[in-house]
Amino acid sequence: SAKPGRTILASTISKIYDEEIQSKVTAMKSIRPQGPLLVGFLANNDPAAEMYARWTQKTSESLGIRYELRQFEDRDLLEENIIEANNDDSVDGIMIYFPVFGNAQDQYLQQVVDKNKDVEGLNFVYYQNLYHNVRYLDNKKLLKSILPCTPLAIVKILEYLKIYNPLLPDGNQMYGKKCVVINRSEIVGRPLAALLANDGAIVYSVDVNNIQKFTRGESLKLIKHQVEDLGDYSEDSLKDVCKDADVIITGVPSESYKFPTEYIRDGAICINFSSHKNFKEDVKTKASLYVPMTGKVTIAMLLRNMLRLVENREKLKSI
Ligand code: NAD
Repeated sequence: SAKPGRTILASTISKIYDEEIQSKVTAMKSIRPQGPLLVGFLANNDPAAEMYARWTQKTSESLGIRYELRQFEDRDLLEENIIEANNDDSVDGIMIYFPVFGNAQDQYLQQVVDKNKDVEGLNFVYYQNLYHNVRYLDNKKLLKSILPCTPLAIVKILEYLKIYNPLLPDGNQMYGKKCVVINRSEIVGRPLAALLANDGAIVYSVDVNNIQKFTRGESLKLIKHQVEDLGDYSEDSLKDVCKDADVIITGVPSESYKFPTEYIRDGAICINFSSHKNFKEDVKTKASLYVPMTGKVTIAMLLRNMLRLVENREKLKSI
């Protein structure tokens, strides 16, 4: 039988942002005649990271942004080289391909990157703003805060898919929408759940241990999200929260994990950001729109973040 759903590719969505980025780069010619410079730091042998770096380079260069990959055999050299790039005026953006050490030292390294060059939006200040629903870096609201690029990419995908309702005021455009996010890492899942809840959604955040509910309270009374524990993870509780979910987002880093298609309500939207396919082949027998990968939108968001950082630095000079 014919599957009612449709696949939407990340490349279709990133194209819109690519045009916006390209025209901003052109408008920046007077301050960045050769184009802004993004530097990527790679100190692991992960082929996926290297491929992602090549994709970032290709996209950057096609949009008039210079990209330089700095690769290190010895990961202990990374910190001093990041500090050097922090102090180098010719560098506009810095990103690190994780994992480097694969432990808490990676979180330290993440904070070594100057927040004014942190294109991935991983600085503590940006996370704190996100969790507290603070959207500007200054009291005069001239400098927009930066968002972590993968959660931001998923927000932009949901805007494209018309889950965000533009008829509602900014900051309430997800009012009443029920989302399930399967992943609660500090890089993607938890900030994503908070972002969607801050925009008015009811979010069920699922990880291997338990399920939590992120909301802005009844009738969106609160100005930032609150979290409620719903108890231990079980197949039954997952099935239950998915029953009337408008959106199901997966980020399980495992080849064998497959989300049960029968848990998807007819017409729900399914998005996978894991590098593995978390949905089964038959997902479109239930889902209306299905986004199988999100990486290209993430790259667009990190380039967009970089241009915002350049703009913020220029604005700071004139304040
Ligand atoms: P992580 O290992 O830090 O987190 C995995 C999360 O999934 C945890 O919260 C864990 O509890 C949860 N989980 C694992 N198995 C589960 C299960 N069976 N049921 C419910 N929850 C389960 O990983 P991460 O850094 O968040 O990355 C996750 C995936 O996303 C990876 O495949 C990574 O490559 C990918 N990723 C993609 C992008 C992008 O732009 N597309 C960006 C970052 C990460």
